[in-house]
Amino acid sequence: MGIHGNATCVMNYDGATGWLLGEEHKGMRAMFTMMNEARLGVGLQGYAQAEIAYQNARAWAKERLQGRDPLRRADNAGPTADPLIVHPDIRRNLMDQKAFVEGARAFAYWAAMLIDRSRRQGDAEAEALVSLLIPVLKGFLTDRGFEMTVAAQQIFGGHGYIEETGISQFVRDARIAMIYEGANGIQALDLVARKLPLQGGKPFMAFLEEVKGTIRAHEDDADIRASVLEPLKAASKDLQAAAMLFMERAAKAPQDALAGATDFMHLMGHVCLGLMWARMAAAARRALAEGRGDRAFLEAKLATARYHAARVLPATALHLARIRAGGETVMALPPEAF
Ligand SMILES: Cc1cc2nc3c(=O)[nH]c(=O)nc-3n(C[C@H](O)[C@H](O)[C@H](O)COP(=O)(O)OP(=O)(O)OC[C@H]3O[C@@H](n4cnc5c(N)ncnc54)[C@H](O)[C@@H]3O)c2cc1C
Repeated sequence: MGIHGNATCVMNYDGATGWLLGEEHKGMRAMFTMMNEARLGVGLQGYAQAEIAYQNARAWAKERLQGRDPLRRADNAGPTADPLIVHPDIRRNLMDQKAFVEGARAFAYWAAMLIDRSRRQGDAEAEALVSLLIPVLKGFLTDRGFEMTVAAQQIFGGHGYIEETGISQFVRDARIAMIYEGANGIQALDLVARKLPLQGGKPFMAFLEEVKGTIRAHEDDADIRASVLEPLKAASKDLQAAAMLFMERAAKAPQDALAGATDFMHLMGHVCLGLMWARMAAAARRALAEGRGDRAFLEAKLATARYHAARVLPATALHLARIRAGGETVMALPPEAF
């Protein structure tokens, strides 16, 4: 379907002899030692495909003339069509992409830094935290990354469906990242069944502490308190409530819990990007106050942080509602009914 630049072939091992490498029953553990880096790499692919698709869509939206600016409808003297970027629905689409790619890039850097801390400094807490975050990074960034390539394609209209503009290739290429290195459904299972209960929930508590610490550190700043930090606080409460439900149900009603695994992964992914946006907003505020850096760039960061908090983060409430609904309606039909 995509990644045609990559020489992939199918290898069948029918009738082949297998030799045990390492100790019996320790295979999963051995596999997971290499998984953090490999899954970070695939999460990065999800982000990177969204990034290049966004860059193309942004250029197209500035160039393509179609429809009149709603603020200029009565102006018969000017040009008969305006660039797509003036239209609020196009702007919504571009803001979704911008909020995702910049948040995702920060999230990937943060995870890479945690891996460095665990490898180079033997930091066990960083190691535990990144183990918790990796399935979110892989699953959320590739699911959302694919959605963002489709959003970018939409900006091209019919030109996005034909091959000439190249945007359809990004959609095809992004699709594999949701599947390989462990399909995203498996990432969600890894998160709720292995990572959430890891060390009695300590890494998960450490993650919540990262969120609370960021909010506490900047809540005196009225400019971002209501517009960025409070929405993050609400989203992290949704995450905490969902985690409590998983802890309660995991043993008693595993089907109930597993039916909500993908929602949990997405809920946590939104909180991760919310945390990144809170940190970026605080850094932008600090630089603006000190008169450092490019003012337009920093103000764009703040505006995008506010957009993310207002228009993207509320998705956590929907994920929590689905998790609360449990597995009953999911599993109501017998296999023969399909
Ligand atoms: C282009 C390409 C390149 C690849 N490159 C490599 C490579 O270099 N090395 C390599 O080792 N592999 C490679 N793979 C294989 C790839 O990693 C697997 O295809 C992928 O991990 C999914 O496994 P599967 O195909 O066996 O799917 P399955 O395990 O059959 O899964 C099918 C679906 O069922 C779901 N599912 C499975 N089990 C459960 C469960 N217990 N609960 C809930 N849902 C479940 C999955 O989420 C998925 O949606 C490649 C695949 C492709 C397409």
